[in-house]
Parts: sequence; structure tokens; C-alpha cells
Amino acid sequence: MIQELSYVGIASPRAEEWRSYGTDFLGAMLTEDGPDGAVRLAVDDINYRIAIHPGTEDEFRYAGWGLANETDLRAYVDQLTEQGIDVQWGDARLCRERQVAELAWFCDPWGLRHELTWGKAALPLSFRPGRAMKGRFVTGGQGLGHVVFEVPDIEAANKFYSSLLGFRLSDRIIGDSFHVRFYHINGRHHSLALSQNPGHIGFNHMMLEYEEMDDLGTAIDLQAAHGVETMQTLGRHTNDLMTSTYVASPSGLQIELGHGGLVVDDLSWVARTFHKPSYWGHKRPTGRTSRPGILKALD
Ligand code: FE
Repeated sequence: MIQELSYVGIASPRAEEWRSYGTDFLGAMLTEDGPDGAVRLAVDDINYRIAIHPGTEDEFRYAGWGLANETDLRAYVDQLTEQGIDVQWGDARLCRERQVAELAWFCDPWGLRHELTWGKAALPLSFRPGRAMKGRFVTGGQGLGHVVFEVPDIEAANKFYSSLLGFRLSDRIIGDSFHVRFYHINGRHHSLALSQNPGHIGFNHMMLEYEEMDDLGTAIDLQAAHGVETMQTLGRHTNDLMTSTYVASPSGLQIELGHGGLVVDDLSWVARTFHKPSYWGHKRPTGRTSRPGILKALD
């Protein structure tokens, strides 16, 4: 079974801007560039977890999912293959680049690439925040954070991610114009969410969680100096109880910066349905100019 969201990769013509955005604003740490010049950021003692590859357009490249060990990875790959998913093993060069022991990958029915890995390289006591921070990012057993994808058909996507891949439903938020499903794979309320957007596929946002509210507040204070646009104002979600704000990045991808997310116990968890995403806040300022996610129209 998948245990954690381990890393994320995008491509962007503005990859270089992440060197300052990722450190001075987010508080992540710059690590060694990838072989293609990718800007790579660490948020804990794992060598890196966020890669922004140089590219001609903003693009989702891959999400990396961590499994416990080699036995689990092999069993999981066998299981997916038996279910008809075309899973490929990554070669030594790719494993070196991602800094994992082993890697297999496949694409979902709409082309989103997922990598299954174990043994990601880590250097204890190596993480130093890129700007003044009171605490750290919430990672460890809860992985990097969460990713939210927009999918053309929520029922088909639910079947793929839940029944085939084993993501466990935390809850749903359904309104007149939206249907979002949230899935956990560890204590984090959701590591993955899928949002229905007919005719489209894309990467809506990635969430990073601060241990300390003050580090979220500081990010909000730093927005003006770094010219970071607010995509959704500070608010609190009904389902994972996260207090968060959504901000633009240099690459069309929204980043949710949060604090205080709910930790779930899978053994006793019962999925709910909500009809509102937030208790308060999360308002979309009028006249936003940044794109809300990296979206592609399907033909
Ligand atoms: Fe989120």
C-alpha cells in the first residue's frame, strides 16, 4: 500500500523564480539542482521533495508516492499489473535523479503520472528553513502534504484511485457546482483530493502545512514583499479543519499554506459528506490575475 505523498514535480518556464519564492517566501530549503537544472526544494531532512523542472510551459510532471519497503513496492506493483494497469520500472538513472532506492511508474486514465517508490534519501539534521521560522513543516509520517487534481469524471476517477490504487475516502464536499473527494493513506486527513471539472485534467494545488500558526501568519505578511497573489483568503476547512490560505506560485500552481490539519485514525474513520468547504474565509479576491492551477483541456 501507498504510505505517503513523498514528492512532487512540475515543469515551468519560470522555474528559476522558485529559488527565491521557495525559500524566502515559503520557508523551504534550496538543495542541489537536478541533472536537467531543476530547482529542488526540501521541507524536511528528506533530500528534496519539490522539483521545478525548466520547461516551455507550466506542466504537472509527476507525483511521487512512498511505500514502506521493497517487499511492499513489489507486491503493490504486481497487484496493479494484475488489475491491468501498465506499470513500468524506472531505470537506475531515474532512481538516482529522484534519489530513491527503487521506482515504478504509471499514468492514470487521463495522463497524470504517478511514481511509486521506496527508500528516498535523507540526511538527518540537514533541514534549515529558507527564512525565519518558529517551527518546521508537518511531514514525517504524514508525508509532504497534499495534492489536489481536477478530473473530468469524478466517479471514474474515484474508482481508479480508490478501488484500484487503494486511497481511502475521508469525505466528500458536494455543492451545486462542485464535487470533491478527499483520500487518506496515513494520519493526514487527505494526501490526495480529486475535484470534478468536466473536460479538464490538471493540478489544482499542493498543500504544505506549518507546525506553527506564526509561520503561516509570517507567510501572509511576506506576500506583499514577494508580490505573491492571494488566491483564497485565510479560512478554515470543514473537513480537515485546516486553517489555511491559498497563494499563487510563479508557475500557475496554487499553494495552500496551512496549519492545524486534522489527523485521522483509519481504523475508526467513517467518511462524511459536507456541503460547504469552509467554516469561514477562503474567499476568492475579485480581479485575481493568476491561474487557479495547471489545467489542460481534454479533447
Ligand atoms: Fe487543499
